[in-house]
Amino acid sequence: MSISRRRFLTRSAAVAATVPFLQQLDIDTCDAAEASIDFDMGFPHDAIRLNRNENPLGPSQRAIAAAIEGVSKSNRYADSILLKTLLSRHHDIDEDWILVGTGSGELLKLAPLVVARNGGNVVSPLETFRTTPSFAEKLGAEIRWTPLRDDASYDIDAMLGAVDGNTKIFYIVQPNNPTGTSVSGEVLTKIADWLPPEVLFVIDEAYIHFMEDGATGIDLLKNGRKNVLVTRTFSKAYALAGLRIGYGLGHPDIMTQIARFGCGPTSTNMAGFGAAAASLEDDTHVRKSRDYVQKTRATYESAFREMGLPTIVGAPPFILVEVGDRASEIRDALVKQRIFVRYGAEWDFPKHLRVSYGLEEENQAFLEALRKLL
Ligand code: PLP
Repeated sequence: MSISRRRFLTRSAAVAATVPFLQQLDIDTCDAAEASIDFDMGFPHDAIRLNRNENPLGPSQRAIAAAIEGVSKSNRYADSILLKTLLSRHHDIDEDWILVGTGSGELLKLAPLVVARNGGNVVSPLETFRTTPSFAEKLGAEIRWTPLRDDASYDIDAMLGAVDGNTKIFYIVQPNNPTGTSVSGEVLTKIADWLPPEVLFVIDEAYIHFMEDGATGIDLLKNGRKNVLVTRTFSKAYALAGLRIGYGLGHPDIMTQIARFGCGPTSTNMAGFGAAAASLEDDTHVRKSRDYVQKTRATYESAFREMGLPTIVGAPPFILVEVGDRASEIRDALVKQRIFVRYGAEWDFPKHLRVSYGLEEENQAFLEALRKLL
């Protein structure tokens, strides 16, 4: 798809912010503007994309500026060591407890590669983000999927009951995608106390910034646990999904094993390094994102209540809404109107849609379309 110069320059605040920087760097903005590059990634230009848990506010201006500076230096390889130093200060934890990845997804795959590649089993909630259990399954591990309780909370007792001498990983998402389910610090400690030291407790904290004072596995690490891996990402609250920067925190013994397979110096890129470094110095954007999510959640909850539709929701930037047996039909009808949401069957919610929060006008357009389809 070709993009006209005018459209390229006006389509987003992010692009508007980049132009002065490109000019400062003496880069010809006309060339960039006239390139035939489809930054909509194949979606129609006017699509309403509420399907991928992307931050609709975009990155902070400081992150954009730093990423652009990084691009101008992209003849050099980036190196994650400096980012590790910054993260070490940010979390007050030694550098050898940190690994930087191409998104947190890299760590979520490497964990099973390191500990579950020779069989055994992985204990995971059923209705969750499935990178770690699915990857372990491909490696030949048995997955002990454990359904959530009726109130959408994790069934921690059932999960612990599924652990045996062959368990390699105990996985939770804190807070969960797609339900928003989370656990308290006491429950995290209970799990860590209960698990045998050979079982790696993987805590995926992709959405933790959206919780006010959410309990984190980092406290378990600081309290001396060796068998815990916490993953975090710049994709969500920092809005840097397209730059692919995430990281993991864990005891150096496990981090050394993971580093044999990946998360090396070249897992980072210059633009991502710049944007992540700038983001760590500026927590206003995270707060802005969290406030926006809280406000948007209230809008969705009240609209769905008005429509008589039950919801499952928590701190993260999405909501599960129960639309009934026609869920997949409704999803398809929305696609015809260029409105994209996810069908809940992907996570064993066949009567639900998962709606990621968009900009206000996008949320309203979706709600309007849904009302007509019910
Ligand atoms: N964890 C959860 C729960 C997610 O929902 C996602 C992406 O949507 C990820 C991890 C992966 O994020 P990234 O690889 O962009 O860091």
